[in-house]
Amino acid sequence: HPNSPWIFNLLSHFKKIVMVRLRFAPSPTGFLHIGGLRTALFSWLFARQKQGSFIFRLEDTDRNRLVEAAESNLLKMLEWAGLDIDEGPGIGGEFGPYRQSERLEIYRDHVDRLLEQGDAYPCFCSEERLEKLKTFQRSEGLTPRYDNHCRKLQKKEVDTKIQSGEKHVIRMKIPENQETFRLNDLVRGTVAIESTQVEDQVILKSDGFPTYHLAVVVDDHLMQISHVVRGEEWLPSFPKHLLLYRYFGWEPPDFIHLPLILNEERAKLSKRHGAVSVEEFRERGYLPQALLNFIALLGWNPGDDREVLSLEEMVDEFRFERVSKSGAVFDREKLNWMNQQYLLKLPEEEYFRMIDDVIQKGDYHDQDPGKIRQAAEILKTRLVTLSDLNQKLGLFFEENPEIKDLQAIEVLKEENSKTVLKEFLQQAENLDQLTSENLGQLVKSVQKSTGIKGRGLWMPLRCAITREVSGPELPAMLDFFGGEKCLHLIRQALENPSLN
Ligand code: GLU
Repeated sequence: HPNSPWIFNLLSHFKKIVMVRLRFAPSPTGFLHIGGLRTALFSWLFARQKQGSFIFRLEDTDRNRLVEAAESNLLKMLEWAGLDIDEGPGIGGEFGPYRQSERLEIYRDHVDRLLEQGDAYPCFCSEERLEKLKTFQRSEGLTPRYDNHCRKLQKKEVDTKIQSGEKHVIRMKIPENQETFRLNDLVRGTVAIESTQVEDQVILKSDGFPTYHLAVVVDDHLMQISHVVRGEEWLPSFPKHLLLYRYFGWEPPDFIHLPLILNEERAKLSKRHGAVSVEEFRERGYLPQALLNFIALLGWNPGDDREVLSLEEMVDEFRFERVSKSGAVFDREKLNWMNQQYLLKLPEEEYFRMIDDVIQKGDYHDQDPGKIRQAAEILKTRLVTLSDLNQKLGLFFEENPEIKDLQAIEVLKEENSKTVLKEFLQQAENLDQLTSENLGQLVKSVQKSTGIKGRGLWMPLRCAITREVSGPELPAMLDFFGGEKCLHLIRQALENPSLN
């Protein structure tokens, strides 16, 4: 019977070996951040690899920082990324409810238990007193911490205060004798923190809501979480958590603290340096698979130099032992490169399905769908993100597409370029029709009569027709436009006053 604690612990230990359960536990204080997605991804990868469960738990106990749409955004972004959830709010599961705000009674019971055991105590200190204490400690050059004032109150005094309805919080006790807390982190090895670094933490607020520290321990235990994956900013908190596990007589799960994500200047990644929310990346037209692959490599690698890995490969290869301890730099160029790799591999039909939304939002949505498809096909290998498409479609659907590419302008200004283009126009007149089939022949003949070859020959044509030095291939453009329009574009380029 799992009533005696040692048997119960043995059972839960056994279960942990057999059943892997990981949770993603965001606070609904904003939209899903890149770092949050990485935490979710690593937990998800490990859960899937071990045929375990991936649980979503909403840590909404900080009532002052709630953002209305955050919960649905978090869930929507995980869905977009393809990280499916086994248990969570709106999904259900044996261990619910999965919103902490719906578990207040559970926390209250656990706090009562700590109070009975003498491991926690009510604290009546006013905000004012605490503020003063902080100011004083700072002025003395001390690290601000609670001075355990209420820990020394007599039971009688406490009872009277509570009976008279005095506002209070509950704090957990940090042992009086100095002690070193050791955590065996799967990434960092043994991490030690002295008990003197930790204060008597508030675990239940005066509004009846628990703080993170209590709620996370109670829930991770009750939800039978085997591995806690979270950001390294939580590392200093682990002594509090270990203590709570001890007070309750529970065995702690395994911990994995992920390194920070840094910007290119090696400072903490923040909004000031561009997009950081998953939503923004989605809107800018990054593919979910590319973003996940890129994010997986922020602090993890498969042990060789492979960089492009499918989700299945990542599930197979993922190891906590290969997660690095040091900060991971968020390199936007690399993300762009990664996205291009995925665009190249994207099956046509999926590509057309994905760009539908982009096109609907752009200037060319009322163009012939067949033509849009043809243009999108030509552009597929030339996009960095899907949202580049609208701007690039201008070349295909504008009457006189502007030449913005400075290098193309330089090329078209050259005398040799003009010679090539004029000769091309002249010789094209002898053809019935200019097509992608006879283009090569015609260019050869232009080479013969002008004596210009290679880049000097092709580049002016490409710049005139595609308006860019690295625009699409000419045969594809000929197929799209037909010969007449291409010749028209060349004439336009020759007559353009800013190129003369
Ligand atoms: N709610 C915490 C956060 O959003 C979760 C930390 C944890 O996973 O334990 O950072």
